[in-house]
Amino acid sequence: MAIRQIDKLDFKDKRILLRLELNVPLKDGKVQDTTRIEQALPTVKFLLKGGASVIIVAHAGRPNGNVVEELRLTEIAKEMEKLLGHKIKKLDEAIGKKVEKEIEKMKPGEIIMLENIRFYPEEEANDIKFSKTLASYADYFVMDAFGTTHRAHASTHGVAEYIPAYAGILVSKEIHALSPLLEQPRRPITLVLGGAKIWSKIGIIKNFIAKADHILLGGGIANTFLYAQGHYVGESLFEKDKVDIAREIMLDCEKNHDQLHLPEDVIVADEMSDDAKTLNVPVTDIEGDAKIFDIGPRTAEKYAQIIKNSQTIFWNGPMGLYEHPPFKKGSETIAKAMAETYGTAIVGGGDSVDCIKRCGYKREDFTHISTGGGASLEFLAGTMLPGIEPLLK
Ligand code: ADP
Ligand code: MG
Repeated sequence: MAIRQIDKLDFKDKRILLRLELNVPLKDGKVQDTTRIEQALPTVKFLLKGGASVIIVAHAGRPNGNVVEELRLTEIAKEMEKLLGHKIKKLDEAIGKKVEKEIEKMKPGEIIMLENIRFYPEEEANDIKFSKTLASYADYFVMDAFGTTHRAHASTHGVAEYIPAYAGILVSKEIHALSPLLEQPRRPITLVLGGAKIWSKIGIIKNFIAKADHILLGGGIANTFLYAQGHYVGESLFEKDKVDIAREIMLDCEKNHDQLHLPEDVIVADEMSDDAKTLNVPVTDIEGDAKIFDIGPRTAEKYAQIIKNSQTIFWNGPMGLYEHPPFKKGSETIAKAMAETYGTAIVGGGDSVDCIKRCGYKREDFTHISTGGGASLEFLAGTMLPGIEPLLK
């Protein structure tokens, strides 16, 4: 996928509207985790070094078009200022007279951060007038919020209609890491999918039915497939309204090269807790009100072997309720195999990334860790993302 990148752009003395992904966890207005802020720094530094002035646009939380005091970007700006070692002028609005005045005064090397863009209903509505106003603030638009590229909003998509759009360093990295999965990946290709909700993963499964050598299922989503296959799943989490689609996918996989793998054994328990009593049973032996909370060791070992024998692996969604130690082992075995495989190992998804951290692995242990869970899934589902489409050459 060929995109326009900022390394090809002369932005000396230019004003750049820079969309960043700074949606970090906040508690009592304070930033709890600075990962996303750190990941945004290379592009900001690159633009400043090249003599630009930078207007940062970002969102936090889901204010749904209203001003929500706790979701102001003030603390995020302060945190970024510290990490960057450079003054950031945080404004309390994103558009309007005051903002315009401040932008007019800007000199090269200066940074302004606009207020939470989702305080404006026009943002999520991808409003034309709002997009034009944002575009009028700058000479170029730089998109570096990979985690929001699957949203057709004014500051991710609309604005690119009116000024030239370029990909920032983070978005470029993501596209370079993920597009080989769609364009001639090294085989065997394996998808490992878990987590709680099937709907977010149907697109990627369908797109890979003809491409993947193995699709390994775990987590809550595997339960729906087990049920569709005719297994009793007790009180396990599963999506009844997705049983038909699960059957359809299983049939399609059979027609291709039978690459769908479901758990053969699972860990069941009565309760979700740190000291739950667990039982390892074959999927044919689930009884009463048992709940499946992890894949079993036999399944995990089989999945690990497949991962180690693959050349390209993408993992999204934990294999179990990893937040509780008794149900973490399945995901731990997968994380270990992902870290050890000689293949290209890519991980996406907020909980999956949290899970590998809790298992003691670092980012460097994998080929690539995507900064956007939903965005990476939609990208790999093969749909053109609204935040990426304007960046194509
Ligand atoms: P990601 O954020 O990596 O995309 P998801 O959000 O889809 O992953 O799913 C993660 C959640 O799924 C976790 O909270 C995990 O506890 C839950 N989960 C995984 N397996 C099960 C299971 N068998 N039963 C209930 N919840 C599960
Ligand atoms: Mg999640």
